[in-house]
Amino acid sequence: MLFEAHSIGCDQTLASQGMIHGGIKYALSGALTGASEAIASMPERWRQCLGLSDPSGSSDLLAANVDLTGSHLLSEKYYMFAKSSTLGRLTTFFASKSLRGRIDKLSKNEWPSSFRGFDGVVYSLNDFVVDTTDLLNTLIAPFSEYVFQLQLTEHNVEKTPEGYVIELDDISVCAKQLICCAGNGSQNIMDIAGIDDIAMQQRPLKQVIVRPRHNLQMYAHCLTGITSNEPRITITSHPSDAGLVWYLGGRLATTGIERTDQQQLVFAKQELEICLPWLDWRAAQFEILSVNRAEAYRPSSIKPDEAFVQRSGDFIQCFPTKLSLAPNLGDKTLQQLDPPTYTTPLRSNHTKAQVGKPQW
Ligand SMILES: Cc1cc2nc3c(=O)[nH]c(=O)nc-3n(C[C@H](O)[C@H](O)[C@H](O)COP(=O)(O)OP(=O)(O)OC[C@H]3O[C@@H](n4cnc5c(N)ncnc54)[C@H](O)[C@@H]3O)c2cc1C
Repeated sequence: MLFEAHSIGCDQTLASQGMIHGGIKYALSGALTGASEAIASMPERWRQCLGLSDPSGSSDLLAANVDLTGSHLLSEKYYMFAKSSTLGRLTTFFASKSLRGRIDKLSKNEWPSSFRGFDGVVYSLNDFVVDTTDLLNTLIAPFSEYVFQLQLTEHNVEKTPEGYVIELDDISVCAKQLICCAGNGSQNIMDIAGIDDIAMQQRPLKQVIVRPRHNLQMYAHCLTGITSNEPRITITSHPSDAGLVWYLGGRLATTGIERTDQQQLVFAKQELEICLPWLDWRAAQFEILSVNRAEAYRPSSIKPDEAFVQRSGDFIQCFPTKLSLAPNLGDKTLQQLDPPTYTTPLRSNHTKAQVGKPQW
């Protein structure tokens, strides 16, 4: 059974850029890293679940059990671009043998049409972009009668020697194990369950939503004049009721927390004018989306490389770290989870939770 406080995905997942990536963006220091390698196999595992590549002959338990076939992709490709001669030694690294098959330099006639007018280099990556709303709907469809709207609090969850008792409107659920994947709400649930040997951290982001005048899509990291090991801007495009929006993350969003909202809006416009000068930003509208990433604690708040799963008695805490790492999270959870013991189907008329809507 899944208990969701508000609407499914309402915090990080529907604020995410939906990129399922293989880690090249973690190698922008010019070398492969633990983080870039831990995630490298994820796009292929997602493709198998999405029915985009053949899982036969694969022993992947997840691909055999998690059917996301039919879930809509926003883009089958993801790109990286930089203005001419601003990549420094990354140019040699991207051409190196160690990245063969993971990154391709495109000739001008292979560029997506949104790069028309650009003077620089464009690379294509093995990554793709999911439509997170559609993904969540596809994921819960077979289980929708077990997905309840309930915020777990000290008033409706009780720790017992046998596990946990959770009160719904019409029944009490006796659970032998509780898997907590409540993102930013996890600390509250750990407190209720008396878990003090697992710690979490939050890393804030100030993302920017742009409503441009043009109707061009962009799925790309901008590396123009890159000065850190993070893309200068990570761009995705999403349909909304009021037309196409551009959604900006990357270094723009991580450093954004040092700027006021107003400064961040001005900065985002300047960055687009500098990095994508061939497009018209004059009448574009800008909006902030502030959100925290929820992760397992790491000294100095560094980003964990992998998904996190830790068991403490009959409690299992999960942090995917990245949407892309969900298969890694599944593997680790299955290793720690006891086999199911209840066989009778569970019925309750308690309100079901629905999938949420992104801010745009
Ligand atoms: C701005 C941003 C962009 C990102 N972009 C990407 C990307 O492009 N690619 C990528 O791989 N990863 C990305 N990520 C990371 C990714 O989004 C997250 O790792 C992932 O979505 C986390 O999923 P989750 O289900 O653990 O958490 P969430 O999506 O936050 O879900 C947690 C849920 O728990 C519920 N909850 C909380 N407390 C309670 C309670 N007491 N009782 C019941 N329910 C509760 C909440 O309502 C919420 O719905 C991004 C993250 C952010 C913030």
